Order: sequence, then structure tokens, then C-alpha cells
Amino acid sequence: MVKGGQNSQNIMLILSSPSGVGKTTLTKKIQQKYSSFKISVSHTTRSARSNEVDGVDYFFVNSKEFENLIKEKKFYEFAKIFDNYYGTLKENVDKNIKKNDILFDIDWQGTKQLSKHKNLNLLKIYLITNNKEELKSRLIKRNQNSQKEIDLRFKSFDDDIKHWSDYDYVLINKNLEACFKQIEEIIKVSKSKISNLLHTIQ
Ligand code: 5GP
Repeated sequence: MVKGGQNSQNIMLILSSPSGVGKTTLTKKIQQKYSSFKISVSHTTRSARSNEVDGVDYFFVNSKEFENLIKEKKFYEFAKIFDNYYGTLKENVDKNIKKNDILFDIDWQGTKQLSKHKNLNLLKIYLITNNKEELKSRLIKRNQNSQKEIDLRFKSFDDDIKHWSDYDYVLINKNLEACFKQIEEIIKVSKSKISNLLHTIQ
């Protein structure tokens, strides 16, 4: 038994970063290479982008539906980010963790809330960029947000990075491939630690 209730070697990998640092690309790369990882699909009240699919990228719901889920205490964590709600349902996590590792693309507020659940086997990685100007051009190039939203996301950078110390690792995404390799190494080390721990206590 690892960390109380989570009865397996499976890990919950959290990736957080300011908007535009490349987290979604890295999340998808991890899932493509490691079939053990399932991406946690969040609920959100933000509108779907043209390339997003309901139930795959997010479960898109309205504010009333989201607030009902809050009232019913269905979330492990939720936060209001850029004027929209985002949250992770308990039910989905509890079901998936029995068979899979889980990958969370969530912000620092959600990470703080998940960290309060001491029975969860969390591995927390924070990604930053070394080039803030490049980040702005990436946000614009992505062309998925209005100018107002791009400004809001860019302005939140300084506040967001204040929370790096809540994480186990902080990585600078200078180069996507190099950053991916670092994440792979971290996963390997974490998995072997858990496996050794299980051998010791069995
Ligand atoms: P986006 O609108 O670009 O998809 O996501 C905006 C921010 O919301 C990102 O930083 C992303 O990590 C975060 N986010 C996505 N889903 C969740 C969630 O379920 N909970 C929390 N706390 N943050 C989330």
C-alpha cells in the first residue's frame, strides 16, 4: 500500500505552468509514449476551441452545471482561472488510478488542493519558459484566444510562477525534446522509488 488509500504503484503526475509554455504538447507526448498514462479530462465552463472535442479535451459544461457539481462535492479540486471554472472529478480519478497512472494538466490552485489529500501518490512538476517574449508570441500564434484573453494569460505569468516551490521539480522548457527527456527521467526515478518501497514493506 503506497500512501494510504492508493493501493498500487500508479502515480499521479501533475504538470503545471503559465499559459503557453508547452504543457499540453508535453502531456500528449507522454500519453502517446506511455500507454500506462491516462490524461485526466477536466470539466470546464470555458468554450471549446475549434480543435477541441467534448469528452476528450474537456467536458464542456455551463456554469450552473459546474456549480451543482461543486455543491454535490464531486470535485477533488476546482479553480476559477481566467474567468472560467476548471475542475477534476473525484469519480474519474478514483476509477482510473486503480489501473493506470494519471496525468493532470492543472494549475497551481488545483495542485494545492490535491496536495491536501495525503493518500494520493502525487508527482508534481512545474514548467517554465526562459523566454517570456517568446511565450507571448506563442500565445498569439496559437490563435485560440481573443486579444483580451491573450493579455490576461500573459499578465498572469508573474503571479503563476510565484507558486513554483509547491512542486517537486521545476523544469525550464527551452527545448521540447530535452524537457520531455527530463520528465521521462523523473517518472523513471519515481516509479523505481515506489517499487523499492513496496519491496521493502512486503
Ligand atoms: P486552457 O484554457 O488553456 O485549456 O487552460 C487554462 C489553465 O487551466 C491551464 O493552466 C490548465 O492547466 C488549467 N486547468 C485545466 N484543467 C484544470 C482543472 O481541472 N483544474 C485546475 N485547477 N486547473 C485546470
